[in-house]
Amino acid sequence: MHLEKLQAFVISSSDYGESDRIVSLFTLEHGRLKGFARGARNSRKRFGPALETFARIDLQLNRKDGLSSLRSADVITLYSGIRCVLGAIAHGLYACELVECLTPEGQPLPRLYRLLAAYLERLDSGHSDDADRRLFEINLLNILGYRPSLQRCGRCGSTFDAHGALMQQGGELVCRFCAVTGRQITSAALQGLSSCLATGRFGLVAFDQESLQLAGVLIDESLANHSSRKFKSLEFLQQAGGSDRS
Ligand SMILES: [Zn+2]
Repeated sequence: MHLEKLQAFVISSSDYGESDRIVSLFTLEHGRLKGFARGARNSRKRFGPALETFARIDLQLNRKDGLSSLRSADVITLYSGIRCVLGAIAHGLYACELVECLTPEGQPLPRLYRLLAAYLERLDSGHSDDADRRLFEINLLNILGYRPSLQRCGRCGSTFDAHGALMQQGGELVCRFCAVTGRQITSAALQGLSSCLATGRFGLVAFDQESLQLAGVLIDESLANHSSRKFKSLEFLQQAGGSDRS
């Protein structure tokens, strides 16, 4: 059987039966895959800590539709700085869940792979705040082709003025001539998100409190619109105090 060498993040991991584990992997080469690690719970020698959530690993597997078979995994980094801060754990789990829920199986997404790597490194370095979270999310939406139009009305195409835009259900942004109701998203919030897309780098975009809150309202609505279920880790993130309470 053909053995492939891949790079991956472990985005979730669960026990299976007495001695095995099933891991959800986000690989550089093939995007999201599910892997079966036989004997991973009995023998720590074979996989060690490489199948913990957040671990960045080099691995060998037999790729199959549905469930690939893991042969070996070596740790590149475990991001141990994330594991000792509750807010960082909450943000990291949420980011991994977004990748797991919103990406198609078996489709390479190298830009998203690099974005997740940069975000986990940022969390690992002791930074975990909502501006970073929104930067990750808007770039993820953009890479997946789900980004709302931040500069122009989604219906008539006119450029948003100083009043910003009105958000419709699903996160669609429209101008005041195309809709009379909807949550107002200020131009400062839209500008902040555009800057997040332009830089793509953590720590460079500053939001004021109102803009951050409104950017969050828009992104939460857009993400929810593209997922068939609620994100499990969102409640934990809100409890851990890492989220604005919009
Ligand atoms: Zn319009």
